[in-house]
Amino acid sequence: MMALDVLAVGAHPDDVELAAGGTLCLLSEKGYAVGVLDLTRGELGSRGTVASRKEEAQRAAAILGLTVREQLGLPDGGIRSSEASQERLVQALRRLRPRVVLTHPKRCRHPDHAEAAALVLRACFFSGLRKIDTDQEPWRPQHVVHFEEVFSFTPTIIVDVSRTWQKRTQALQAYASQFHNPAYTSNEPETFVSNRGFFEWIEARARTHGHAIGADYGEAFQYHAPIGTEDLMQVLSREKPFR
Ligand SMILES: [Zn+2]
Repeated sequence: MMALDVLAVGAHPDDVELAAGGTLCLLSEKGYAVGVLDLTRGELGSRGTVASRKEEAQRAAAILGLTVREQLGLPDGGIRSSEASQERLVQALRRLRPRVVLTHPKRCRHPDHAEAAALVLRACFFSGLRKIDTDQEPWRPQHVVHFEEVFSFTPTIIVDVSRTWQKRTQALQAYASQFHNPAYTSNEPETFVSNRGFFEWIEARARTHGHAIGADYGEAFQYHAPIGTEDLMQVLSREKPFR
């Protein structure tokens, strides 16, 4: 039976790599079982095709060392926190049994992303209820953590991804049709995420987050509550000294 440590759920192939690729890669390298579930196949994308985007996603998965990478097949542009979609996601959660789920923030530029966040929160809750019957054992992830997107937020966690930044960049380059990649030639229109400036801005923000924790690069996350501890000294011992 599958038992993932972490499952990152995104609306489209490439969403989770862009927001949390360095973190996912680090977790894989530390020996955690890490999976990615794309809610859609990205069929509305202005660049690439369903087939090419799936190939890109598989290449990125290999670079990040993922245990599982799946697509749920919900309609691109039509993600809703509906009962039918919820049931599909509950089935996936009960099969993959992740302890921690990463997903979109609640406030997003792309409407599908905000809907995805709501859907994931609902499914994680209802997946734990015995009377929601899918012929599977109930399963409730212990934690849901939101990654950061275009709308910046105040992080409650910044992961130092300096060590995996290069691999994360390689994983993003695997999405040649989606992000800026000089090797990719096509006459498809440039999009919000495919121009060079966007890529440079993402990197600049990662440098800013890294700087805040004394690292080269950081990826930001929001947990629904402050991270608690009983041992202040233990938490501080993991921090870099004040500069
Ligand atoms: Zn997306």
